[in-house]
Amino acid sequence: MTAKAPLVDSFGRVHTDLRISVTDRCNIRCFYCMPNENVQFKPRDELLTFEEIERFVRVVAPCGITKLRLTGGEPLVRRDLDGLIARLVNIPGIDDIALTTNGILLAEQAAALRAAGLQRLNVSLDALDADLFRQIARRDGLEQVLAGIEAAQRVGFDKIKLNAVAIRGLTESQIVPLGRFARERGLELRFIEFMPLDAEKHWADEQVLSGETIVRILAAEFGPLDPIAAPHPGQPASDYRFVDGGGTVGFINSVTEPFCETCNRLRLTAEGQVRNCLFSVEEWDARAVLRSGGTDDELESLVRKSIAAKRAGHGIHTDQFQRPERAMFQIGG
Ligand code: SAM
Ligand code: SF4
Repeated sequence: MTAKAPLVDSFGRVHTDLRISVTDRCNIRCFYCMPNENVQFKPRDELLTFEEIERFVRVVAPCGITKLRLTGGEPLVRRDLDGLIARLVNIPGIDDIALTTNGILLAEQAAALRAAGLQRLNVSLDALDADLFRQIARRDGLEQVLAGIEAAQRVGFDKIKLNAVAIRGLTESQIVPLGRFARERGLELRFIEFMPLDAEKHWADEQVLSGETIVRILAAEFGPLDPIAAPHPGQPASDYRFVDGGGTVGFINSVTEPFCETCNRLRLTAEGQVRNCLFSVEEWDARAVLRSGGTDDELESLVRKSIAAKRAGHGIHTDQFQRPERAMFQIGG
């Protein structure tokens, strides 16, 4: 592989991390992400094929993209996802592939994902109480998620991260049970602040349950937590260690402590639009290049245009903040 100039934006941020959404479909309907009913999904022929995704990655890898994360919608509803992973692991320059899933289909797919070369897994689980799970996801599924985590550990996924969106006035009761669940199973628990990306546009600042509050709740139950220095810049989570040796817990405080200054992420939506930020209001059409016989150079130049246009930060708390048209499931979280 001949290395090319890195993907550096006008603020000097070097992009090494690509998040690829493989579908906008999902088997549940979390209120902070999707509408409950009548979701308008993209027609299947508008989604990038595995060949197109592979080509995109082959073009950006020489520009310094080393890490991939597959997401969605729910990535495990995309048929034969292990086939995509098998294609991506062989791309020179890609040294880390991870997947974010709601875990519902994980029990049946964990072995195939592992065999295809998937290295890391994040499973999203906000509540261990079945009624609260249903209230958030607006569908059943807790038992399947728990079975999925167990199966993933059984087939050899270690260091599984458990992602919990924390919502003030709703999920406080789950913090200690999730903490205990993660500590007992050796999972890395991470709390994510609720961001204004819900399709129903109900987000309000008051619903953000800050990392600071959660640390206090955890410390009251499990004893003190010590902050851990970030191992590398661009890592969005602030990590803490339970002083009693019970593992670590992370906080993605995107709203109260934005990490935009060190952001190294680029996104590709399921239908092939390049986004330079979750909160981007602009997209660059890679699918058009891919499907009109465009060259690799044209694709690279499109990516560089998107990087060049990246703003300093999302500015959620500024007067200029504009919510993106699209919700989380359409962007890829
Ligand atoms: N369906 C998969 C899942 O839920 O893990 C992958 C896609 S989902 C959009 C990726 C992550 O984004 C999940 O951990 C989910 O909880 C989180 N998420 C979705 N909407 C969010 C929001 N409005 N604020 C914060 N996190 C959100
Ligand atoms: Fe589906 Fe994930 Fe969105 Fe929940 S957060 S509705 S699981 S895509």
